[in-house]
Amino acid sequence: MPELPEVETVKNGLAPIVEGRRLFRVIQRRDKLRIPLPENFAERLQGRRVERIGRRAKYLLFHLDGPDILICHLGMSGRMTVTAAGDRGAPDIFGKHDHIILETDAHDLVTYNDPRRFGLMTLCPADGLDQHRLFCHMGPEPLGNEFNPGYLATCAENRRSPIKNFLLDQRVVAGLGNIYVCEALFEAGISPKKNAGDLTGDEAEKLVPVIRDVLGRAIRAGGSSLKDYAQIDGTLGYFQHQFRVYGRAGESCPTSGCGGEIIRIIQGGRSTFYCPACQD
Ligand SMILES: [Zn+2]
Repeated sequence: MPELPEVETVKNGLAPIVEGRRLFRVIQRRDKLRIPLPENFAERLQGRRVERIGRRAKYLLFHLDGPDILICHLGMSGRMTVTAAGDRGAPDIFGKHDHIILETDAHDLVTYNDPRRFGLMTLCPADGLDQHRLFCHMGPEPLGNEFNPGYLATCAENRRSPIKNFLLDQRVVAGLGNIYVCEALFEAGISPKKNAGDLTGDEAEKLVPVIRDVLGRAIRAGGSSLKDYAQIDGTLGYFQHQFRVYGRAGESCPTSGCGGEIIRIIQGGRSTFYCPACQD
């Protein structure tokens, strides 16, 4: 599943293609992805100008000049590809899993491809984003100012769940996924099994910058173009080389002098990777 840094990379890659451009044509090749597409979806988008592309948690947001915002989630296997006007065939040939195609007024194509169709696209009133059912219960962005040690410490008070599960709770912080929680807890030296309610002020001070840092590094590693993104893994992968504990069970701990071994446990149905020797 694409995590926040991947979505941010897609956003950065799409921005120069779509921002300031009108949607000349919208081709809709299905009625539904994970959920049905809105009525008159293509018609409502056609002719609109994309003023800005943004992101909330793992959702891409196309801010339009009309009454709607286009919300897009890549699900498990969704990807956006760009075909520059000059590289288009005549006629265009679309694949089986190319579900939505946006053609800009520069005649570049942005294609949403999703073999498993767990992704979604929907429309929301421009002034109703925070009240939308997808967003109304979401906590702050991990890279935003609202997410700070004071906030985290207050949120964690009296929580009885392990810190790992607590950080995956989208009401606490939005868009932080399994991989980056494992990495951040490792770098902060905090056990994933620690009770969230036992998080100390010092640990909260340490954890917040570490979370920003692991996400920031992954975003920088992803580069700023979709081409870079695709090169990492043709089927939309993660920034593997960045991980210090995730997926490394049985390997020795990368902390010099630790001598511990990375282990994998299951918490809340998800894999957790950590070093019991230096995360306590
Ligand atoms: Zn260690």
